[in-house]
Amino acid sequence: MDPSKVEAIRSWPSPSSITEVIRVSEWSSSAQSAFESLKENLSSAPILALPNFDMLFEFECDASGVGIGAMLVQGKRPMYSFVSKHKDGTSNVDVDALSRRYSLLSIMEARVLGFSFIKELYEVDPDFDPILNCSPAEFKRDYVEQDGFLFKGSRLCILKYSIRELLIREAHECGLAGHFGINNTFEILNEHFYWPCMDKDVKAVINRCATCFQAKSAFHKGLYTPLPVPNQPWEDLSMDFIVALPRTQRGKDSIMVVVDRAHNYSTGKSPFEICYGANPLTPIDSIPFAIEPKASVEAVSKAKEMKKLYEQVKAKTEKTNQQYKAKANQHRKQSTFIPSNLVWIHLRNERFTAKRKNKLMPRAEGPFKLLEKDGDNAYKVELPGDSVVSSTFNVGDLMPYLEDDNLENLRSSSFLEGEDDAGENVTNNITSTSSNDVTPKL
Ligand SMILES: [Zn+2]
Repeated sequence: MDPSKVEAIRSWPSPSSITEVIRVSEWSSSAQSAFESLKENLSSAPILALPNFDMLFEFECDASGVGIGAMLVQGKRPMYSFVSKHKDGTSNVDVDALSRRYSLLSIMEARVLGFSFIKELYEVDPDFDPILNCSPAEFKRDYVEQDGFLFKGSRLCILKYSIRELLIREAHECGLAGHFGINNTFEILNEHFYWPCMDKDVKAVINRCATCFQAKSAFHKGLYTPLPVPNQPWEDLSMDFIVALPRTQRGKDSIMVVVDRAHNYSTGKSPFEICYGANPLTPIDSIPFAIEPKASVEAVSKAKEMKKLYEQVKAKTEKTNQQYKAKANQHRKQSTFIPSNLVWIHLRNERFTAKRKNKLMPRAEGPFKLLEKDGDNAYKVELPGDSVVSSTFNVGDLMPYLEDDNLENLRSSSFLEGEDDAGENVTNNITSTSSNDVTPKL
């Protein structure tokens, strides 16, 4: 500032004549002090400029051994200035945690209606009441109170109430990619928030996410249960179609495959031998036996031989099945559904061609009602009327539909609902008989 102009302002006299006073109506002592402070402000640097967002902002700073001074400048006029004093490393950590806690609180207050009320509930919260009442030394080691909120380090403690579910959903659904998996969602939350067993709750919420089911469904193997072993050839036939082959010249695109299950096992015997008792020696041998009305000694002994052979084949097949079953079930779980429960259905490519035309189409549909068990490994499902697909599904294509009502564990608050805490009551409609749990791989 030009010193001569500063001096001119400072020596600006107070109004003395009547006409001068009339101009400002009444000249009181407060008018005099306002006049003095106006002069002071006008003559002392800096007068801070208002920001103009069309102009370039500059940041000027200078550091000495004990502090840093900085100024936000626009068109050479200061807009804002501050001095930050140097602190050693350990106390800087506190400052960092303090500012992290403050910014977290202000974000929460802006985003969650009535957020400030939660601080009054810490003392009745089943998870945090014991912490508030522990010894001061124990409390200090892990916890801090700031503005009435409880923090574990710089993580805000969240009450056992539906806000936990809200935060999980937010972290799970609101990423740019959307619908993060269990681990990612947990990490996002765990950086800013704390409550006991957060990982379990994240899992429970994500396992109920309809969007995830529709987008990420996949076949999961149920227990391998072999079909009963047939006693003799041609007793148990299986039939299947291989479809959608390239069309032949006659316009055919499918093959019907009929398999005699007695022949289909790895028994160490050829199908011919199982059927006729010996391998063919000449082409004539493959002509079926003529039916002879009278029995011969030779025929009786042949029949005995055949019976023995069938028993051997059956025993061998059963043994192979048991071995295969034990191996296949090592890492599988028993899926037991209860009729009338709701399920998701995995839309297999080959079965729901129209609904799986491209990768972005939903991979599961539901919920549908289970009707009844259909064999060891399948269930009948009530499908909507227009469906052309048969209504029996392998357990591997079924996933329990977990209703939101089962999230009480996250929502319960004995204080707010006036009833006993329900505790570990996340019930599944599926029972697990191995150490693997029912979580779908997301
Ligand atoms: Zn999801």
